[in-house]
Amino acid sequence: VLPRDIFAPRQNSAGVAFGERKALASFLAERDAAGPLDVTARCFWSGAKADAPQVIRSAVDGTAIGSVHALGAEAASALVGEAARHVRTAEAVPAATRAGWLRKAADLMEAREGLLMNLLAREAGKTVDDGIAEIREAVDFLRFYAAEAERLFAAPTFLPGPTGEENVLQYRSRGVAVCISPWNFPLAIFTGQVAAALAAGNVVIAKPAEQTPLIAAIAVGLLHEAGFPATSLYLAPGDGKAGAALVAHKATAAVAFTGSTETAFAINRALAARDAPIAPLIAETGGINAMIVDATALPEQVADDVVMSAFRSTGQRCSALRLLFVQEEVADAMVEMIAGAAAELTVGDPRDIATDMGPVIDAAQHTMLSEHLDRMGREQRIRFAGTLPEGLPAAGQWFAPHIVELDRAEALPGEVFGPILHVVRWKAGGLEAVCDAIERTGFGLTLGIHSRIDDVARLVRERLTVGNVYINRNMIGAIVGSQPFGGSGLSGTGPKAGGPNYVARFTREQVVSVNT
Ligand code: GLU
Repeated sequence: VLPRDIFAPRQNSAGVAFGERKALASFLAERDAAGPLDVTARCFWSGAKADAPQVIRSAVDGTAIGSVHALGAEAASALVGEAARHVRTAEAVPAATRAGWLRKAADLMEAREGLLMNLLAREAGKTVDDGIAEIREAVDFLRFYAAEAERLFAAPTFLPGPTGEENVLQYRSRGVAVCISPWNFPLAIFTGQVAAALAAGNVVIAKPAEQTPLIAAIAVGLLHEAGFPATSLYLAPGDGKAGAALVAHKATAAVAFTGSTETAFAINRALAARDAPIAPLIAETGGINAMIVDATALPEQVADDVVMSAFRSTGQRCSALRLLFVQEEVADAMVEMIAGAAAELTVGDPRDIATDMGPVIDAAQHTMLSEHLDRMGREQRIRFAGTLPEGLPAAGQWFAPHIVELDRAEALPGEVFGPILHVVRWKAGGLEAVCDAIERTGFGLTLGIHSRIDDVARLVRERLTVGNVYINRNMIGAIVGSQPFGGSGLSGTGPKAGGPNYVARFTREQVVSVNT
């Protein structure tokens, strides 16, 4: 018997047939026809007093691709006041209408794939397949949360009660929801947070990462075009100070945040310090994600899955593999095979179909990675250093894949967000100690297991408190509705994005009991 599908009927986005030359060629032609870019990111509320516009430059070659009118702290705070005036109007829109607008936005997003691909490559350095996957994920979030809005809001839930009493559970919107999103999924995570908060009938203020306001501006434009009034969704481009002001405002009734663990702590503290109603925080942060490989694993499959998990998206996924535990007996052969596969990866212009890894997002990330590698070179053992091809644009922050062997897991100082894989050996009988080491990181986002022994997988997954466990496969690219995504501990609060509990967190529950 198949498990019952708990979600409403819905199809995930189809994507592009890579193998079909004609489909791919016309897709890329559409993308290239969309450039050159000149996108403006600004708050659509005319009352917002933004700073002077700043030029946004391509992460690939430094050319100007648009400009941002960032909000300062004061303007961000005023924006929450403005949003709060429209809470009742937003809540009065029927859930079916909201769902219809979300589905329309999904269709519009698919229709503008060329422009979005162009922007994802230039503003965020996304390769062709990462760009396609990201658009699909954003579209999936829109359709998934549309169905969730209908499931939760369409009809009240009748609850049992004593004779002569009727009990009904209803979901209501919370009010103003602030969504703060990261640069590594500037379309998918941005759209996912916003779509869920809108599905729940809130007025939404969306603050994109400083590095990627242009893609966010396009996404907000599509949602407005799809039907959401300007007074139900505001773009708030700005830096951390603007984000802090949004969170601190008394009228902010819910916050969704994806980004660093430190910022999640700061948001948590800021919410707690407010003299205001208690607002929930959905935080999705980082991870020191591990994969455990034992001597029974299939080497070729491990190599493929490791390379994909550690280096795809230039390692800039919070789900990415950081710490690979390999059983001693197969460790040397395994590392050699992984290094061989990593050596085949091409770092380069992400618009080129042959490119596997685009640039890292900015100079600050590049410096962090270089310094970490220098330290690892002094204290540990570099097992593989990839090379960069000649002639890459000087303005891009290029970083080749690397593999570092550690003498113990604790030698990794924290989450290193980029294409550096760390390997630790373990001895037969040492699985418990490996689990202890993973548990000690305090994170709990993704975990990979490669073993052909069922008991190994069972022991590990029961023992560890990670959010997403991947067995005998890669550990990135969670699919909306199939692999709800998010962790616990230092990795976040849940509920999981793309899962059955996410939209509900943006609502308040009301129970009405009537003596009949
Ligand atoms: N959901 C993405 C994945 O499964 C990762 C999201 C993130 O990096 O924040 O790979």
